[in-house]
Amino acid sequence: MKVQTGLPSRGPAGLIFFAEFTPCPTYFFMKYIFVTGGVISSLGKGLTAASLGALLECRGLKVRIQKFDPYLNVDPGTMSPYQHGEVYVLNDGAETDLDLGHYERFTSGVLSRLNSLSSGQVYETVIQKERRGDYLGKTVQVIPHITNEIKDRILKGGDGVDVLITEIGGTTGDIEGLPFLEALRQFQHDAGRENVVFLHCTLVPFIKAAGELKTKPSQQSVAKLREIGIQPDLLVCRTDRPIGEENRQKLSLYCNVGLDAVFECRDVEHSIYELPMQLAEQRIDDVVVKRLGLQCGPIDIAPWREIVRRLLEPKYRVRVGVVGKYIELQDAYKSVYESIVHGGIANEAAVEIVRIDAEDLETKGTAQLEGLDGILVPGGFGNRGIEGKIIAARFARERKIPFYGLCLGMQITVIEFARHVLGLKEAHSTEFNPQTPDPVIHLMESQKSVVTKGGTMRLGQFDCALTPGSKSRAAYGQDLIQERHRHRFEYNDAYRSKLEAAGLIVGGTNPQSGLVEIVEVQDHPFMVGVQYHPEFQSKPNRPHPLFAAFIKAAVVKSQSSC
Ligand code: GLN
Repeated sequence: MKVQTGLPSRGPAGLIFFAEFTPCPTYFFMKYIFVTGGVISSLGKGLTAASLGALLECRGLKVRIQKFDPYLNVDPGTMSPYQHGEVYVLNDGAETDLDLGHYERFTSGVLSRLNSLSSGQVYETVIQKERRGDYLGKTVQVIPHITNEIKDRILKGGDGVDVLITEIGGTTGDIEGLPFLEALRQFQHDAGRENVVFLHCTLVPFIKAAGELKTKPSQQSVAKLREIGIQPDLLVCRTDRPIGEENRQKLSLYCNVGLDAVFECRDVEHSIYELPMQLAEQRIDDVVVKRLGLQCGPIDIAPWREIVRRLLEPKYRVRVGVVGKYIELQDAYKSVYESIVHGGIANEAAVEIVRIDAEDLETKGTAQLEGLDGILVPGGFGNRGIEGKIIAARFARERKIPFYGLCLGMQITVIEFARHVLGLKEAHSTEFNPQTPDPVIHLMESQKSVVTKGGTMRLGQFDCALTPGSKSRAAYGQDLIQERHRHRFEYNDAYRSKLEAAGLIVGGTNPQSGLVEIVEVQDHPFMVGVQYHPEFQSKPNRPHPLFAAFIKAAVVKSQSSC
C-alpha cells in the first residue's frame, strides 16, 4: 500500500518537493533541532530550548521555537493552574503552554498557534478529516495519519527561519509521547540526517549515600530513545554539581554521543537569564552549528552579559507585593514574575517579589502590605480572594503606593474606585455578583450567549489608542499599541463619565470597539490598570514599558521612604 505522507522529499537538484511534487524551496536551507527529556519532568527542557535559541540568534541566525505536548486537552486554556501553571497567550489568541513564554522572552520570534501542538489537537484534526471523508475510506491509524499530522506541523512551524527548535513535552518512555517520537524519527529520515539534531535533556543525580553522581538513569533514557530509532546528538545533563571528566566520558561512551556533545546544565544561582551564558561557555552553539553545517558569524553574547550584570549588580532594591489566588504555585503567574524582573532590569533595580495570598488580606488584615514599594494584582477568574484584592487596591490608592492591575487587576481597580470614591457600596463585576446594582464591570452582549468554555474569550492581540497626556502614553512613547487579551468581562461604559469626573481617567481605548483598555488614578504616583496582559510581551532585553514605569515608581517610593 502506498501512503502519501504529505512530506517533502528531495528532488533531483537538492530542492525539496512535497509528495505531490509541488516545489517547496522554503525548506531547502532549513535545519531542525528536536529537544526531548528523560528520567523526570521539570528538567528545564523549555529553558534549554529557549537558551539554545537565544545563542543561535546571537550568531545571527533566524530561529523559531515550538512545543509539542502529548496530553489530550486541545489546549491548556481550560486546564487548572494547579495542573498546568500559567496559560500563555499568543498574538493570534492561541492559549498555550508556559514554555512558549520562555521562547518569546529568550528569542525575538513572535509565535503563532502553529507553534503549539497537543495530542488533543492532532487527534481532533485527524478525526475531523476522517468524518469529512478525506481519507477516502482508508483505515485511519496512528501511523501514518497521526504521525503525518505531526510532521506537517514541524514543516509549518518554521517557515522562513534558519533553524526550528521543537521541544517535545513529557518524558521519554511515556506511552502518550510515542507518536511524537515516531514522527521525529520519520522526519529525520525524510529531511536527512545532516539537517536534524536531537538534543536530549537528562538528569545526573547525586546520590548522597554513595557520595557520587549517577549516569545510569541517563544511559537508560537514551536506550529508550534508541529503541524507537532515535540517537541523540547532544546530551544536556541537569545536575547540581560539576559532572567531572570521568562521568562525561562514561555518558559519551554509553550514550553514544561525542565527548564534546555532553553538556552540563547546573542549577542557576541567581536567575534563569544566566543559562544562555552557562551554555555558551561550554560552546553548545559551536557543536550545533558544526553538526548542522550552519553558515553564520561568531557569537555576540554581550546583550545577555549586560542582562546578567544588571541583575547581579543592582543600584536599587525594591519590594513588590503580588496579590493573587495561586500564590503558592511556582508557575501560575510565571510571565508576571518575569516581567517584574524585567522592569527591575530596566531600572537597575533588584526586585524582591513578596507573594501575598489575597484571602489572607480578608482574614488577617493588611499587615503584609506594610512597607511594600509596589503592589500588583494579576489576572484571574472566580470569586476566591476577590475582596482581598479590593483591599489591596484600596490600600495602594489611599497610601499612594505604586499599583499595577493586570486584566482582573484592572477590573479590581475600577470596582474599588467605584465603591470607595464614588460611594457605590455594592459596585461589582457581574462575574462575581450578577445582581449588583452597579455593574461597573459587565459582560458584553457578544459574550452572553457563550456556553462552551474553551477558546471563547476575547483572546489575542487588539489595538489600543492611548490617551494624550496619560501616564500610559508617556510610558509607551507612542499613540497606538497592540496588547494581548484573555478575558470575558469589560469596563462598563455607562459609568465612564462618573468615574472620570471623580479621578479615574481612561488611559486607552480600543479604536475599533471603543472598549476601555486602561484606567489610571489621577493624583497618584502610579495606579494603572490594564484590561490586557502586558506580561506576555515583556522580554529581559526589551522590558515592557508599563512594567518599567511601575518599577520606576517603586524605586522612587523606596528612595523617598529611606
Ligand atoms: N475573570 C475576568 C474576565 O473574564 C478577568 C480575566 C483575566 O484576568 N484574565 O473578564
